[in-house]
Amino acid sequence: MLVYDLAVPPLPFAPRPFSDELLLSWLCRLAAANHVRLSGFFPEVQAMSRYRLNCDPGEEIIARLAAMARLPQSALHRLLLPNQFPNLSLLSFLRVPEPSVVSSPEDPSDSISLPFCSDCAGEGEHTHRSLYWQAEAGLFTTLLCQRHGTPVGRYCPGCNRSPLTLAWSQTHPIVRCLRCDWRPVTPPKREPVSSNPLGSRQLLFRLQCDIVAALRDQAPSSFWCGPITAVQFLRVVDDLYWLLRTPGLSALCAKKFTFTEGFSWTSSYRDSRTLFNRIQYLPFSAWDIFSRAELLVAIATTVLGNRAFGTLGRQPYYPEPTACYPWDWIMPSMRKASAQELMRRVAKWPPAMRLPITITGGELARSGLFATDSTS
Ligand SMILES: [Zn+2]
Ligand SMILES: [Zn+2]
Repeated sequence: MLVYDLAVPPLPFAPRPFSDELLLSWLCRLAAANHVRLSGFFPEVQAMSRYRLNCDPGEEIIARLAAMARLPQSALHRLLLPNQFPNLSLLSFLRVPEPSVVSSPEDPSDSISLPFCSDCAGEGEHTHRSLYWQAEAGLFTTLLCQRHGTPVGRYCPGCNRSPLTLAWSQTHPIVRCLRCDWRPVTPPKREPVSSNPLGSRQLLFRLQCDIVAALRDQAPSSFWCGPITAVQFLRVVDDLYWLLRTPGLSALCAKKFTFTEGFSWTSSYRDSRTLFNRIQYLPFSAWDIFSRAELLVAIATTVLGNRAFGTLGRQPYYPEPTACYPWDWIMPSMRKASAQELMRRVAKWPPAMRLPITITGGELARSGLFATDSTS
């Protein structure tokens, strides 16, 4: 017999969660089905970052939510990101950030709204397909809709000013703007996203999909560097995050220079501020979506090396790339201590990916051209 906590009144309507659903998606559907605001029936949730909520809101909150929806707690535990993605802890930049640093300029008030895809919203409305968000929508590396490859956003495409709201229409959730009368339309038939990406958005989409696969402990595609295990792939991505995001690794540039800036030729983000000026020392979860895209495309380009030129349909003018791009410009400028740290990490990479780095490192060592480290 189930015993309910009388202090927590069960809600009249409780849609069942899908097995691969994001916790926040189910919560928003729960609120919409009962025609209440999420903040109204659950104020603690509003004060929580979206990421913490999806990763681990704590036993007390899970117990209350389960009682309100008349569900076993295990049904909600299953939805938490670490339980849907067994390899989540391998990407250091996806760990739950400290509560003190998660309020970012992007999240001034309502920090828990869902990332909407207007194509998914249109399909849900016109085919009555049950609209819900899969777990990967909760990862900060997910910048594009997993089904349509289109950028997701939280603001109304009609007025561009009001966050979109999940409402309930008799039997299913619908997406609305409470400010203007925008409503989603059925998306036109589009070509599926190509498996041979061309352009930075498709490259980003491919990386995003393979990160999701690897976090689920499935082998990513061999597109990046031949056959590779999920753990190896995540290690490479995590090491490249360190390399491309950490300021001050270059002995030749200013202390706030990050190697991502050397990939200005891949960036579609037109902002005169440097990456460091935008992100400072904030965790990845607090970056704006364009800065996250910029870094992920730089990671993808570094993995592909000069294969990226064909994929993106362009290449950098300066410095003239060699067969070992981008290691040909990164390594000569590294501080000695940073280069040693890189070599330590790279030793665990698959041989094919290690090769251009060891070639460049060997040439530099022979010619004595490693940048001198003024701090050591
Ligand atoms: Zn979509
Ligand atoms: Zn609107």
